Amino acid sequence: MSHAALNDLEATGKSCPTQAPPSTLRQIYETHTGPARVTAARQGLWVAVLVYLLFAASDVILIPDVAATTILARFIVALLSLVVLEVCCWAKVGPRGIESISAISIVAGYLFWLIPALETTAIESIRLYMIFGTIFMMGANLFFIFPFVLSVVTSIVVLGVLLASMVAMFPSDPVYMINFGLFYVSCFIFTSYVNWKLNGERYNVFLNALEAAHQHREAEKRGVALERLSNTDYLTGVENRRAVDKRLRDYWTDWQSEGKAFAAILVDVDFFKKYNDFYGHQAGDRCLILVASVLNDTLKPLNASVGRYGGEEFIVLSRVTGRDQVMALCEIIRSAVEGLHLVHDQRRDGQAVVTVSVGASYTRPQSGPKLERIINEADRALYSAKANGRNCIRLFNPNDPLTSDDNENIAATLRMAIKNDLVHLVYQPIQNLRTGRVEAVESLMRLKMIDGTPLSPAQFIPVAERTGAILDLGLWAIRRACTEVLATGIAPMASVNVSAIQLKSRGFALAVSTILEETGVSGSQLAFEITEGIDMEGQSDVIRCITDLQALGIRIWLDDFGTGFAGLSWLRLFPFDTVKIDRSFLQDARRPAGRAMLEDIIRLIRNRGLKILIEGLETADHVELMHELGIELGQGYYLGRPVPIDEVRIKAFPRLATVAGL
Ligand code: C2E
Ligand code: CA
Ligand code: CA
Repeated sequence: MSHAALNDLEATGKSCPTQAPPSTLRQIYETHTGPARVTAARQGLWVAVLVYLLFAASDVILIPDVAATTILARFIVALLSLVVLEVCCWAKVGPRGIESISAISIVAGYLFWLIPALETTAIESIRLYMIFGTIFMMGANLFFIFPFVLSVVTSIVVLGVLLASMVAMFPSDPVYMINFGLFYVSCFIFTSYVNWKLNGERYNVFLNALEAAHQHREAEKRGVALERLSNTDYLTGVENRRAVDKRLRDYWTDWQSEGKAFAAILVDVDFFKKYNDFYGHQAGDRCLILVASVLNDTLKPLNASVGRYGGEEFIVLSRVTGRDQVMALCEIIRSAVEGLHLVHDQRRDGQAVVTVSVGASYTRPQSGPKLERIINEADRALYSAKANGRNCIRLFNPNDPLTSDDNENIAATLRMAIKNDLVHLVYQPIQNLRTGRVEAVESLMRLKMIDGTPLSPAQFIPVAERTGAILDLGLWAIRRACTEVLATGIAPMASVNVSAIQLKSRGFALAVSTILEETGVSGSQLAFEITEGIDMEGQSDVIRCITDLQALGIRIWLDDFGTGFAGLSWLRLFPFDTVKIDRSFLQDARRPAGRAMLEDIIRLIRNRGLKILIEGLETADHVELMHELGIELGQGYYLGRPVPIDEVRIKAFPRLATVAGL
């Protein structure tokens, strides 16, 4: 009742009872106590009528001569009252009407009994029996819950009837009149007073209930707001980690108990750190807000939820089943963000807008009993998406080596390699075969896992390239080679292997020139070995970068020549300084056809006026062959294995040690 009253109160424009004018409150009170008053009056009248009829027995005892008439009167009044009452109730007459019927019944009950009763010859009996009129008065004031005015009017009428009949019957008995008159009047005053108090009390109870309901509702509203706040990400307005975790647990329980499948999709904003660093934190925040809201708008109609899972990572949960559905949803997510066309020209992969990498996993019979597993799988798929160039989607595939635990460990190791001293360089001499002089050293990277297990470059370089870790590691290698062997004068020249990703990254040439400046090394002492593993046609930024590096005096060597798919066109594209012929040609040279092939390649490079370096010299025969072919530069285990910097000084390059005075 109080909540309905509260709604009415709010409809008047006030939400708090203390703000509403008394007339409004009164009106609301009337409206909302109405049904209870009807019920109370109806029940009251039925009880009163029954008691009234029971008193027929006392008529027989006290006024037997007129009892037949009074009893008949009682029955007529009783019947009429109840019939009128029920008809009015059926006709949905309001509380005032029903209460008025009850009030009239009270008066009628007394009056129509009294008139025939006064005809009795049992004067002494009626003298006292009349007093029961006060019961009718009390009935109006105390028994029924009438409004004060109706109570007073009813009891005044009963009082009037009492006084009038007393005066009419016993005019010559002043003692009786004074005693009973005073009794009637005081009875009227006290019961009316109690009625007035009761009505006030009832109204106050209503107001208190209204106030309590109001406070309850306010508390509820505050609770709901608080609940919403504690589940919402403060920046983007989507679900926060807490809410996501809860939703995940719910989905997982449903999956475990009812087999309801779902997908967990991790969405990571590509190169967000770059975006933040360049455009500023405010723009970064705005970017996240826009990404969150486009995800929310796109996914809500598809019954998927979006939450922020960490920094620039979002998570989408959806009850989709099956590979195709999940992939479709992932693609919707990816293209929605790309469709924002948010400018991001600081990324190093040739794209100029904000994009996301998406990794997903979904419940399968092999999902196992642990919830974390599905998130872990989605995370690995995300990692795979990033490793595959970003702005793409990947679904967890247990057979995909890229999502294997090994590669995850390598990626994690690479992230902390520099800081934790897990990486170092080894150097392999490059010798002038005619003079025997070490003309340069090739620096090769070595990595060990945190437990000390060494990893070969064949294992970690591809992972570093896919994750982008090669960017920092590559610069680290250049700096290290400069400080370890060039700045110290240990070798006249050093070559460093450089990945295509580094050449594509913005600001690479600038970073290299800073290293040269800081280490005091001349660019002409440095050579970068580039493999022909990527198609360079149309890669204008790579060409620009190589030109910038050459402007610093750095030599560009073409590594592993003959193994890639763009070998010859490469020779056409760049003015390489030296070409390193892959060791596979040397192995083949034992056969006449292989030797002819090697000779052809050598001729081709010489025709372009480039220097030649042959890798993989493992035997004295290999060196002999080089002499025959007139090759000047060679590198291989026969001449010297790659060794750490300490060994470079004392053992590996005795000639060099002499030159350097060590
Ligand atoms: P690469 O540039 O062709 O390096 C030469 C590889 O051949 C080295 O292997 C070296 O140890 C090995 N080698 C040298 N002489 C001989 C020989 O006589 N016989 C045989 N069988 N092998 C010989 P490593 O150090 O395992 O490096 C493998 C590849 O990893 C390198 O091939 C290079 O592409 C890459 N790599 C190594 N360090 C770096 C680096 O700092 N940055 C980048 N981007 N790539 C690197
Ligand atoms: Ca190399
Ligand atoms: Ca090579």
